[in-house]
Amino acid sequence: MNQSPAADPQAGAAVKAADRAHVFHSWSAQGLIDPLAVAGAEGSYFWDYDGNRYLDFTSGLVFTNIGYQHPTVVAAIQQQAATLATFAPAFAVEPRSEAARLIAERTPGDLDKIFFTNGGAEAVENAVRMARLHTGRPKVLSAYRSYHGATGTAINVTGDPRRWPSDSGSAGTVRFWGPFPYRSPFHSATEAEECERALRHLEDTVAFEGPGTIAAIVLETVPGTAGIMVPPPGYLSGVREICDRYGIVFVLDEVMTGFGRTGTWFAAEHFDVVPDLLTFAKGVNSGYVPLGGVAISAEIAATFDQRPYPGGLTYSGHPLACAAAVATIRVMEEESIVERAAWLGEQVLGPGLRDLAERHPSVGEVRGLGAFWALDLVRDRATREPLVPYNASGQDNAPMAAFAAACKAEGLWPFVNMNRTHVVPPCTLTEEEAKEGLTALDRALSVADTFTTG
Ligand code: PLP
Repeated sequence: MNQSPAADPQAGAAVKAADRAHVFHSWSAQGLIDPLAVAGAEGSYFWDYDGNRYLDFTSGLVFTNIGYQHPTVVAAIQQQAATLATFAPAFAVEPRSEAARLIAERTPGDLDKIFFTNGGAEAVENAVRMARLHTGRPKVLSAYRSYHGATGTAINVTGDPRRWPSDSGSAGTVRFWGPFPYRSPFHSATEAEECERALRHLEDTVAFEGPGTIAAIVLETVPGTAGIMVPPPGYLSGVREICDRYGIVFVLDEVMTGFGRTGTWFAAEHFDVVPDLLTFAKGVNSGYVPLGGVAISAEIAATFDQRPYPGGLTYSGHPLACAAAVATIRVMEEESIVERAAWLGEQVLGPGLRDLAERHPSVGEVRGLGAFWALDLVRDRATREPLVPYNASGQDNAPMAAFAAACKAEGLWPFVNMNRTHVVPPCTLTEEEAKEGLTALDRALSVADTFTTG
């Protein structure tokens, strides 16, 4: 996408004015925000009404795995709209059946039944409900440094500050520390030590909570928004073993990591582990129409063979969303997009980001895989003090705000969370686009470097 989009500041001003007058935005103090009015998007880029074009290193909120406006998927949505734009969930309709078949074929192990939702939080919500009904147990274990969505139960199992304002005593949820070698909660010196200590800590948590009270352990396969912490080898299979030992349902949340993001269809494949329930959303249709779901093991599905599942949604398996999923999955196969994400990680983004780390003292660690990377920015490499304090705002967050502004001035839209920038572009990013983004990051990191003290 190289043509310069035509500017239309007047139209942009009208969009902005109506937004400011009537749109109530997520996660925001409404009086303090200034959302960019977006005129269009294609592939890895989007543009505003003033003629500025941005390379999108965020994939929206990490969902446009195939990039914006893929013509095949757009056409499939149009065709479905013309054929059967909507239909109630109790019926068997072609796009829903086909999407479920294609998803079940790609999820690991025997996760062969698909419950569709409208997004990720509802998927987590229903996975926890299934686990509680299947086991007859009340509690859920989840990790600090996690995000699972903003509805009642999903925000409750979330382990980051977004939970705090909605935390009604954390009813039913107990949180534990997952592995994070760079900022080890266990003071480990090696990955192997981190793995062993994290598993021992989880085992102790289960023992002291009472194994018979725990329905599920919910984990992101690779924690995403919380920092893209790839778990050390052996950790997830160790969790699987603990779940098996105590009859606990193992839920892997692949809302962010699923559908190619990490260079495999699902991140679980990297760790050779099969959960009992797997939640997905985002990449399932690159967010072209809202869709999420739970892939369910044969054993848990059987619980609801004769007994009704007490949960449902008006738009479960909406035909437009499912048609978009069918087209997306086919496009991903035809264009080898999963393989492309793996190649991006191994050959382009991994080496490129490590090269930046060598030259910029503000980069404490580079971690990730596929099209899923984090730069952990620090004041001081030796102490690993984060560039801004945990959950900083206002003046305390000035270094990250300056870094983000520098990226935008370079034509790069960055994903910034606390002291990290995540490099999560579409999996279709070209080598040339990656170089453009790395060059912009290089310049913006020079701004971050000015805040280092090491
Ligand atoms: N789970 C994970 C791992 C996520 O990253 C997210 C969203 O970022 C969610 C669940 C919630 O998804 P949604 O915003 O579609 O409800």
